Amino acid sequence: MTENRTQTAIKNLLNGRDVTAGDLAVDDPATGKIIAWVRAYTVDEVSQIIAEADTARHAWAARTAKERGAILRKWFDLILANQTDLAHLITAECGKPLAEAMVEVAYGAAFVEWFAEEGKRAYGETIPSFATGKRVLTIKQPVGTCAAITPWNFPIAMVTRKVAPALAAGCSIILKPAEATPLSALAIERLAIEAGVPSAVFKVTPVCEPAPVGELFCSDDRVRKLSFTGSTPVGKILMAQAAQNIAKISLELGGNAPFIVFDDADIDAAITGAIASKFRNAGQTCVCANRFLVQDSIAEEFTEKFTARIAKLKVAPGVERGAEIGPLINDAGYAKVSALVDGAIAAGAVARLGGPSSERGGNFYAPTVLTGVTNDMDIAQSEIFGPVASIMIFATEDDAIRMANDTPFGLAAYFYARDMGRIWRVMEALEYGMVGINDGVLSSEVAPFGGIKQSGLGREGSKHGLDEYMELKYALMGGVS
Ligand code: ADP
Repeated sequence: MTENRTQTAIKNLLNGRDVTAGDLAVDDPATGKIIAWVRAYTVDEVSQIIAEADTARHAWAARTAKERGAILRKWFDLILANQTDLAHLITAECGKPLAEAMVEVAYGAAFVEWFAEEGKRAYGETIPSFATGKRVLTIKQPVGTCAAITPWNFPIAMVTRKVAPALAAGCSIILKPAEATPLSALAIERLAIEAGVPSAVFKVTPVCEPAPVGELFCSDDRVRKLSFTGSTPVGKILMAQAAQNIAKISLELGGNAPFIVFDDADIDAAITGAIASKFRNAGQTCVCANRFLVQDSIAEEFTEKFTARIAKLKVAPGVERGAEIGPLINDAGYAKVSALVDGAIAAGAVARLGGPSSERGGNFYAPTVLTGVTNDMDIAQSEIFGPVASIMIFATEDDAIRMANDTPFGLAAYFYARDMGRIWRVMEALEYGMVGINDGVLSSEVAPFGGIKQSGLGREGSKHGLDEYMELKYALMGGVS
């Protein structure tokens, strides 16, 4: 029944595209079964697509922002009209529970709606002049042809978060989706074309091997901008490659989010926030809480209540009613989580829940709580990407800040406290691009998403997200008398 539902979604959304005979196998992480074969593009074909996009961008940029906005608005409507089918595609290829996939479709669509409006507000400025007879002004212009590389953990939202601002700004864009999740991206592309986006202006190009296409995006001087979401090691490779043409680059990379609970916090609210932050997509998001730092006087109470809540989470295939924790994306993802938990236990941590003894079969990892974790363990220094909560204890506010910042990453951080002075001090001291205060979920199309340190460059969403796809031109007008 599940497979039939997936096949119906594919049929409805991919417009009769043959998904039985491509080169790229797409499987369902809950069953390991192949659900589609997608046509993969060669590097030469992608190069040809770049050429077409680079020609098509001029007519697209020449349209008014209002015209582009109207097309994006129609795309937004179509995404929402197809929300259930899109959610089934996400669940089938990425594994997350269907309820979460429905939320992702709405979240992904929200970027399209936001940038449909924001494109009309790409204002330049007039600046009080430095000399009589001269006028100083700026305009914003589209950067040109763009490329994007996206991950598998948000197969729709990471696509729209890049493509919508690019299109709103007047750019063309070629997107290489993650090898595990090309179906959602292809469905989104098809809806964009149905809404009126010219097919050469936005093209999704699945490939079997990502590295050569990443290299092409960076070496082809027609590509003026690369936006990447994925791991820090791949981000470093792309940043080095992008130096060839000094292409603009945005990087949204790995995180190591601390989730700090101070002794003045509302503990029940902190636990609700902790569950939301840790277990979304089975812990496979770059802003998932990765380390729980709990003040010593409340550590036992927090750990006990938190563990009791986690024990009730329903682990099941994403399509099953009430599923809360789906499978990990693949064997490698499972092996990584397993190795981190085993390593932590060997180094002295204790499994209060789950852990290696509670195998679920397939790529399902049992929700796990580890206590006795220290910041030098691998599990505290790596992005876990699994449903594992590691708990550390601290004594003072200064200790918490020092431990929280003791990582090369700087994407999201969270803390729960009620003292106003502490809230300001800690918010300012955390070396992170985003801070959730008394809240465990902070992603929204209205707010700038992005990291500092080795978590990346640039911001996505919000009014700042549009600037990533625009150049600022300064014009000096002399001879004004
Ligand atoms: P993950 O380990 O979560 O899959 P990756 O950074 O490997 O994270 O993958 C994120 C995206 O980067 C995917 O679309 C993947 O295909 C792509 N990718 C992986 N390696 C490279 C590379 N060398 N050059 C360009 N893209 C790459």
